[in-house]
Amino acid sequence: MILERFITPGMGVNLYLVGAGKQVIMIDPGTIIPKVDELIEERGYELQAIVLTHGHADHIGGAEYYRDKYHVDVYIHQADDEMLQNPKHNLSKGVYGYDISIEGAIVYQDKDRLDLGDIRVEIIHTPGHTKGSSCLLINDQLFSGDTLFKMGVGRWDLYGGDGQALMNSIKSKIFTLKDMPVYPGHGVATSIAYEKERNPFVG
Ligand SMILES: [Zn+2]
Ligand SMILES: [Zn+2]
Repeated sequence: MILERFITPGMGVNLYLVGAGKQVIMIDPGTIIPKVDELIEERGYELQAIVLTHGHADHIGGAEYYRDKYHVDVYIHQADDEMLQNPKHNLSKGVYGYDISIEGAIVYQDKDRLDLGDIRVEIIHTPGHTKGSSCLLINDQLFSGDTLFKMGVGRWDLYGGDGQALMNSIKSKIFTLKDMPVYPGHGVATSIAYEKERNPFVG
């Protein structure tokens, strides 16, 4: 089992490499991180795909670079594909100082199963932080994007946000899963049981 976490400088976004054997997928490349390239090279990892949890600039800024470099596809939920393409909605200017627009992503939907090489990703659509925000279930580990953090939840005041939808997503789609590790888009890992018991934002 491979699980590597890199923190995007300046933005605190977690970029994950997840996989097994030599195959990995990349989750939420917020920017280009030379250490990621070095590690892929050093270990001989074979990148299968880039999977985005949602369309905010801080999670997508490196996607085009890695897509081109490794000749892989970028995946995002259908409802956030327009954010990828629209800098006004992905907020890239505010984050990077320039516009980011990414075309040609492959869209996924709730309950889709993506077979990326030998890596299986189950999609759990958890709208609220953005319309298309999704959690990625990989080998009994949940990658929760900006939906659920350790002792926190994502903000819902940006484009496409909806606080009620967010709470509903967490309660009905995440807290109903069995206990497993949770790897959020920002900050340290947690678990479903821990958040169910202690998360102060989810009533
Ligand atoms: Zn976000
Ligand atoms: Zn974020």
